[in-house]
Amino acid sequence: MQTIKAAVCRAFNAPLVIEDIQIAPPGTGEVEVTLDAVAICHSDITYASGAWGGHLPAVYGHEAAGIITATGDAVGGFQVGDAVVVTLIRACGSCPSCAGGQPTICETPYNSVNGPLRTADGSPLDQAMACGAFAEKVVVSHRQIVKIPETMPKDVASLLSCGVITGVGAAVNAAKLRPGQDVVVIGAGGVGLNAIQGARLAGARRIVAVDMTEEKLEIAKEFGATHGVLASLKEPWKAAFKALGGRGADAVLIAVGAIPAYDQAPRYLGRGGKAIMIGMPHSGDMSSYEPVVLAALGQGLVGSKMGDVVIQRDIPWMIDLYEQGRLKLDELISGRWSLDQINEAIEDTKTGSAKRNVILFDRG
Ligand SMILES: [Zn+2]
Ligand SMILES: [Zn+2]
Repeated sequence: MQTIKAAVCRAFNAPLVIEDIQIAPPGTGEVEVTLDAVAICHSDITYASGAWGGHLPAVYGHEAAGIITATGDAVGGFQVGDAVVVTLIRACGSCPSCAGGQPTICETPYNSVNGPLRTADGSPLDQAMACGAFAEKVVVSHRQIVKIPETMPKDVASLLSCGVITGVGAAVNAAKLRPGQDVVVIGAGGVGLNAIQGARLAGARRIVAVDMTEEKLEIAKEFGATHGVLASLKEPWKAAFKALGGRGADAVLIAVGAIPAYDQAPRYLGRGGKAIMIGMPHSGDMSSYEPVVLAALGQGLVGSKMGDVVIQRDIPWMIDLYEQGRLKLDELISGRWSLDQINEAIEDTKTGSAKRNVILFDRG
């Protein structure tokens, strides 16, 4: 065991506590990654609020990048010194979901309470989301990581671990957009802006962003939205239909957790359209819709976890797009903070105006 610094959740709805914790060396199939950067995702905030339950104490954080500093046996060719991004997708590789090409819904359970983390006094400490990246180091499966170019800035790379793959993947893998189709994206935050980028990369004809403020709609246009609609309108889907020439969308990507967005999403669809549910509402929240309309118009509701990505296939593709100037990443970062400032960074993320706040680790 070695001692590292981490931001620990001791009680739901309370500030995280910076403390020394213990981390085990990597076992078979595992690597230790010393982190340079971890971004704050709304999922971390939802977990820390208690809305999804889970064990305490816990270390959250799951959008990370760093350098491999130790490996166990059988780590698929990864080596000490490799620069990598760390994701929460701990896929076994052999269950029916993994074998069927959907590692994001791997069926093999992982006991994160019995993972590599312990508190300073040796008690159990939950490695939340199989990552625990609000800490100086993580020990994770080699299946959760992807090599990145050494020259790629780690703060930028960390965004690939969750928000970017979720948004772009939802457009490309889940909605399976074809060039020329029309898209509505509800929510122009950290995930929604990437859904907009994904729709643009897929060759969408018109991309309508829906959000609460004009400011966010303007940012959405920088990422590829062709039109913006204020969610505060009484019937915002009517404005979207107008922007889409009266036909409705081939896909609506729901990139928020708020239930009214789920209730309204089918209203934006044209005939044969699909609503893709990307955001993660609180456990127990319910949504309603009118089944006869979906049946009569051949529409669908589809859930998408982590953009249905295969990280080893999709992240190298996205890195190439970034290097070619076709995928915006730098522009997604709204603030950089130290680990000691994590509670301030979380509060700033909660206001909804931030895109992505990134924690940078001091490796000096
Ligand atoms: Zn996330
Ligand atoms: Zn699996």
